[in-house]
Amino acid sequence: MRHDLPEADDFTRPYWDAAAQGRLLLRRCGDCGRAHHYPREFCPHCWAGEDRVAWETASGRATLYTWSVIHRNDLPPFGTRVPYAAAVVDLAEGPRMMTEVVDCEAAGLRIGMPLTVTFREAADGVWVAVFRPAQGQSSSRTQEPPAERR
Ligand SMILES: [Zn+2]
Repeated sequence: MRHDLPEADDFTRPYWDAAAQGRLLLRRCGDCGRAHHYPREFCPHCWAGEDRVAWETASGRATLYTWSVIHRNDLPPFGTRVPYAAAVVDLAEGPRMMTEVVDCEAAGLRIGMPLTVTFREAADGVWVAVFRPAQGQSSSRTQEPPAERR
């Protein structure tokens, strides 16, 4: 039994199909203009109906909001994966997302650090979005423009 895999249904199918192609999808509302994640049929901000909410590809940029380094998890398959950094990130488009930070030592994690999305194959053909530090990293999937300096 696995506890980390999504249940894909007809509604979320586009999300998982895009993830398998290395793209993170969001839902954006045509009425209030706000994006949300995880995908819901109705806008959770203004309750506009599903005919007003559409899929869009996220930039993949995010900042680290908070995290917790997990040292023990008895639920398969996490036991073989500890320690890992369970995290909440703020996507550039606004939504807050529960995920995991990879390719970073726990001691290197900082609130607000820039992250970029990457995908991990959690099972045959099922890819989940995780994040890794954006600075000094080059994505193997996409060529990114130079990071903005502020
Ligand atoms: Zn809305």
